[in-house]
Amino acid sequence: MALTQEQILALDKAHIWHPYSSVNSAAELYAVDHCQGVEIVLKDGRRLIDGMASWWSMIHGYNHPELNQAIKDQVDNMAHVMFGGLTHEPAARLAKSLVEITPVGLEQVFFSDSGSVAVEIGQKMAIQYWHAKGHPQKNKMLSLRLGYHGDTFAAMSVCDPVTGMHQLFNGVLTEQFFTEAPACKYGEAWDEKYLLDIRQQLQQHHKTLAAVILEPIVQGAGAMRFYSADYLRRVSELCKEYGVLLIADEIATGFGRAGKMFACDFAGITPDILCLGKALTGGYMTLAATLCTNEVAETICAGEAGCFMHGPTFMANPLACAVANKSIELLLANDWQPQVLSMETALREGLAPCTQQASVEDVRCLGAIGVVEMKEPVNMATITPLFVEQGVWVRPFSTRVYVMPPYCMAPAELQKLTSAICSVVERL
Ligand SMILES: *Cc1c(COP(=O)(O)O)cnc(C)c1O
Repeated sequence: MALTQEQILALDKAHIWHPYSSVNSAAELYAVDHCQGVEIVLKDGRRLIDGMASWWSMIHGYNHPELNQAIKDQVDNMAHVMFGGLTHEPAARLAKSLVEITPVGLEQVFFSDSGSVAVEIGQKMAIQYWHAKGHPQKNKMLSLRLGYHGDTFAAMSVCDPVTGMHQLFNGVLTEQFFTEAPACKYGEAWDEKYLLDIRQQLQQHHKTLAAVILEPIVQGAGAMRFYSADYLRRVSELCKEYGVLLIADEIATGFGRAGKMFACDFAGITPDILCLGKALTGGYMTLAATLCTNEVAETICAGEAGCFMHGPTFMANPLACAVANKSIELLLANDWQPQVLSMETALREGLAPCTQQASVEDVRCLGAIGVVEMKEPVNMATITPLFVEQGVWVRPFSTRVYVMPPYCMAPAELQKLTSAICSVVERL
């Protein structure tokens, strides 16, 4: 027999952790009954237009018939099989399309379970690369302040030291190098002065640096900021100049979110290593991938270890690969770019009234991402119910009230979402 809403909430309260939460949290939790299209339907019957796309991932909407079918077909064939010594069609197809759609030159694909793990793998690749080249001392990362790269230890070590709470894990986290967050905003006129800090860091530390790791163009969870494509292009050049690899973390930006298929495309660059996750499976299942150039792969495999030292149990899970293949097929068939660009216009227009509010610092949009930056951090426990009352699902973080809706959201639904944000912000 199905559990009632009360039973679910009681069991949750007794036993379950939620992301970044206290088990004693008094904040209201909402039990979901099902999801359809761009809506989350709660157990009590309320319907919420989803502004979060389940954290950047659900790009085609919930309960999509073709994505559902891809999983149903695959599950009757095989749900999983180990990837050591074995391979299969879903993985082969997925590797081929990832190589085709990512920046030219990325040829080798390493599948894993989640974004954070893809970031760990990217760092291991960079370290093994320099080890194989006879430079084992090149094993540190240079990262951008305000960055976010995940929650596992190596991923945490390259997150912003303040918002990533490095002091809490002091002595355990690997100490990395940090450069200022890019000061040149997206679309702003470029000036070489914006490179001063990162150039100095590279000059000073390149002998111990394996790689620069960054989120291209969009600093996501740590900041929700958009920076200049010139910065990205110039950093890519500086990495070559100083003999340091570039790891691009496109876990949030990949698959069209910012208006280009990959944010690296804004600058026309190919990183040495690229991390993908989130929207890879259209939000259906956890799957991530770390891609690299042939040069990186060949060097690692010619090294002392003779192989890359990683191999997750659920590597290239066939169900996840099958739904990822269908998601990419839908994306390419859907004319995603005009869709995302018209969302940018609608978000810009819909959120514009927020700029009138004294409590608002800045409103900015890029692709299917809309951000209202407040002057003060919002109280998530009190603001969430206000959004739910308005029939939308928006989960702000710190000073940022932001949305990245599914690409399939209709103009009227998007307008309901932006009006709800404006009216909630007005009440703060
Ligand atoms: C979400 C995110 C990660 C971590 O991915 P998980 O799947 O949550 O481990 C890493 N990097 C970026 C840029 C992200 O947005």
